[in-house]
Amino acid sequence: MTARLIDGKAYAREIEIQVGAQVAERLRQGFPPPKLAVIRIGEHPSSVIYVENKRKACRRVGIEADLLVLPETVDAPSLAALIKRLNADETVDGILLQLPLPASLDEATFIEKIDPAKDVDGIHPMNLGRLAARAPGLRPCTSRGVIHLLRRIGESFYGRHAVVVGASNLVGRPMALELLLAGATVTICHRFTRDLADQVARAEILVVAVGQPRLIPGEWIAPGATVIDVGINRGKEGLIGDVDFPTSRERAAYITPVPGGVGPMTVAILLDNTLTAAVARLRDRPTDP
Ligand code: NAD
Repeated sequence: MTARLIDGKAYAREIEIQVGAQVAERLRQGFPPPKLAVIRIGEHPSSVIYVENKRKACRRVGIEADLLVLPETVDAPSLAALIKRLNADETVDGILLQLPLPASLDEATFIEKIDPAKDVDGIHPMNLGRLAARAPGLRPCTSRGVIHLLRRIGESFYGRHAVVVGASNLVGRPMALELLLAGATVTICHRFTRDLADQVARAEILVVAVGQPRLIPGEWIAPGATVIDVGINRGKEGLIGDVDFPTSRERAAYITPVPGGVGPMTVAILLDNTLTAAVARLRDRPTDP
């Protein structure tokens, strides 16, 4: 069997078109364009690329994206003050704190400082808690993007066994909560899981988000499984995933490529979340002067 490729770029483009149309309609109704404030700390090369990709995507759909760059040496009170200012800024709909932060700054502390209504990454404990409680607010972008990809290829989730490898707050945990909410039976694996190969072999839907190149070889994958590779690893060969693509492609029914699978969906959902945050904040059409 050779798996069908899941074209994340094409599906992300569909979302962009929908978001762009809704932004344009809101502008016609007299609303301001949605505005995203992106905070980047330091010049971490991947962060520079990710932030630039996100800002370009914003521009394509008519969302304003302000970039605020702080030096690598920024202290905790200065970052806290910036987040406080953006929380209070009536013109800002979404706040994105690009991760990872320098080791001197505790990520959880600053994520918690973002107003949950502006948390377009969906990773504030309030938003993760809402997802866990089956009352989602703003949802984490990558896991929401994966659900979108799975629905787009006709996955129904009910009664299906999904295995998530990786349990971070950013990807693995919300991924498991999304799959549970969608009706799947979910196993979560992490660094302390024994017999990872056995767990992976039981997956009808496999989502891998670890950050180790080719951790999952094709022979672990059940024939006919759907394989979603969230991993992005930069090496001499360019970008590669956590799943060994050539061997897995011969076992799976569907598989995401890296790059061009989950990555573009993460950005598309960020746009959708920013629009959602703007709509929730500004429900009433501005009155004419
Ligand atoms: P993380 O380091 O925060 O978490 C990694 C998780 O993997 C942990 O839960 C850990 O327990 C688990 N793990 C580590 N070694 C393991 C092993 N041998 N077996 C099983 N589990 C193991 O990473 P993260 O932020 O969740 O990101 C994971 C990967 O996804 C990275 O490559 C990252 O670049 C990528 N990522 C991609 C996107 C995207 O849009 N495509 C978005 C976010 C992250």
